[in-house]
Amino acid sequence: MRLDKFICKSTELTRTEAKKVLKSGEVRVNGDVAKNAAMQVHENNTVTIDGQQLTARGSRYYILHKVVDSICSNVDEGYPSVLNFIEVDKAFDLHIAGRLDADTTGLVLLTDDGRWSHNVISPKKQCQKTYRVWLRNAIDDDKLAVLVTKFAQGLQLQGEDSLTRPAILTRVAEEDLLDEQCYKSEVLLTITEGKYHQVKRMFAAVGNRVVGLHREQIGAIVLGDLAPGEWRALSPDEIALFS
Ligand code: URA
Repeated sequence: MRLDKFICKSTELTRTEAKKVLKSGEVRVNGDVAKNAAMQVHENNTVTIDGQQLTARGSRYYILHKVVDSICSNVDEGYPSVLNFIEVDKAFDLHIAGRLDADTTGLVLLTDDGRWSHNVISPKKQCQKTYRVWLRNAIDDDKLAVLVTKFAQGLQLQGEDSLTRPAILTRVAEEDLLDEQCYKSEVLLTITEGKYHQVKRMFAAVGNRVVGLHREQIGAIVLGDLAPGEWRALSPDEIALFS
């Protein structure tokens, strides 16, 4: 990893502060003064600042129950970033492994391990993501059978070169009365990719409209009973799923 990143990971210093310390000549790698922030360091290198040896902190992995009107971005833009919810040092050094729209709730994974998040989000890895979806229009038994087949075969979304990958649709409930969200049907949808607004666009492509969207599961990691706005560190077993 880059030397400035290694310093950030093993101290309270920000990237800018780490660069200043590097310029000052106080940093040594294997005994030699090192000023180049981009220098690559490895586990077996000894890095010191002012004679104090640094030990890199391991990567960090968290799960958050995202609330509505928060955004999956490292900057606050109109709504607060989900990173504000993670009460750890340098939370803004984390990134989001699979973004959700501002109006979508549910499971968000956060880490500072780029390789790990790649395993979560890369379409090549085909990791399953399950969403609970509330729909404006009812899905009766006949429509359901047609939709299950269409979703399994793949849909052509506007502006995309290829069909969506096979997705699994199951109906949970149909509502006779409109509730305050005005939904007429509740379904679970499992997809293995993450195109822009994918779930909303898939239902739009079959003439329905998503009025509520909640992510419940990514791979074998489930939101469970984590309350809205709450977060926790992932367990070693959960981390291992994408390592
Ligand atoms: N699909 C969407 O349309 N929105 C999300 O937030 C996630 C998946």
